[in-house]
Amino acid sequence: MKDRVILHSDANCFYASCEMVLNPELRDKAVAVGGNEEERHGIILAKSEKAKQAGVTTGMPLWEAKQKCKDLIIVPPRFEYYSKFSKLLHKIYERYTDYIEPFGLDECWLDVTDCNTDGYLIAEEIRKTVKEELGLTVSIGVSFNKVFAKLGSDLKKPDAVTVITRENFKEKVWSLPVSDLLYCGRQTSRTLGNVGIRTIGTLAQAPEEYLTRKLGKNGHSLWLFANGLDDSRVAHKDHYTPPKSVGHGVTCVENLENIDEASKVIVSLSLDIGYKLRKEGLYAGGVSLVVKDEGFTHYSYQTKFDFTTQDESVLSKNAILLLKENYPWNYKVRALTVTAISIETTDTPVQADMFFDYEKDEKKKRLSSVIDNIKDTYGKSSVLPATVLDEKKMPKNRQADTVLPGMMHK
Ligand SMILES: [Mg+2]
Repeated sequence: MKDRVILHSDANCFYASCEMVLNPELRDKAVAVGGNEEERHGIILAKSEKAKQAGVTTGMPLWEAKQKCKDLIIVPPRFEYYSKFSKLLHKIYERYTDYIEPFGLDECWLDVTDCNTDGYLIAEEIRKTVKEELGLTVSIGVSFNKVFAKLGSDLKKPDAVTVITRENFKEKVWSLPVSDLLYCGRQTSRTLGNVGIRTIGTLAQAPEEYLTRKLGKNGHSLWLFANGLDDSRVAHKDHYTPPKSVGHGVTCVENLENIDEASKVIVSLSLDIGYKLRKEGLYAGGVSLVVKDEGFTHYSYQTKFDFTTQDESVLSKNAILLLKENYPWNYKVRALTVTAISIETTDTPVQADMFFDYEKDEKKKRLSSVIDNIKDTYGKSSVLPATVLDEKKMPKNRQADTVLPGMMHK
């Protein structure tokens, strides 16, 4: 059987590069995309090559980044544009194959086996085309499996192609740290390091059953990956994997002091989640709440329903209950994240019991769809329940811009 030809294309400094295409004045400057300082989302999300050279890293607080790089230009993120660029990149990939599997906005696997052309030549052509047509650069890994293709795209960047073959993988890959391997996270790397397994080569040569004992199923996968035995397919471009969870979180402008303040934020976050669930045709089988207090300690609570729902008020009520019953309020709350969990693609209706009011439920569903239509036309914050309208501690972009009074109570 002939080997597959798989590419992994990774757009370099994606957000920052998009900004530089949109605003050519930023070209060749130290640029970073970062959250709004006043609203305390003060971290670097992406940086240009120049900023990177000055020591700016992703996740760094803005003040620290500015200290490292005096002439750093920080621009707020504009995800709607990045998503447009991402679609344009896909259009280029589609000239070669229908098997395109995205990994985030800026990375994709492509299975180009059926092109019957040398993978390196295709990668080179894509690299040049992206640069000419979009003004972005990509680094591409070419290999016979997805894991090595992904690893290859990291080896040389920006604007480069790396080929990892059956013949050269031991030489190119085995000396690298295990953490370079896909799905080998910080915790796993640490566990492996503790038993002296630090490179991909050592991992590959370790007894498989030992790794399975140490790391469970993941140990088996990582052993296969290290030996070049990953045989997972590149998904078709129309393939849709429903998300495992739909969540939304926010860091508040001022710390929340009590359950009433926190409830308003939870209601507002749940609105977004209900909207997303209905848009995607998904149903939540539970809800989780993550609380970050002012000392940056995280608390995580969750509850499962014996039914599934798209109703934001069910999500918010349960999340508020979780907070009421569990959070000790020794400290004020800095950030909250509400997540719909146990996601399903079909409705598992509430068990027919005599307390359930079907007529009311139907009415509520109809109302939700009317509200979604208004949101699609006038923007997400055009309809908000009265409880969130007076919330001053929410970041500004989450506040209502258009208010249709009484809409929620019709
Ligand atoms: Mg990238």
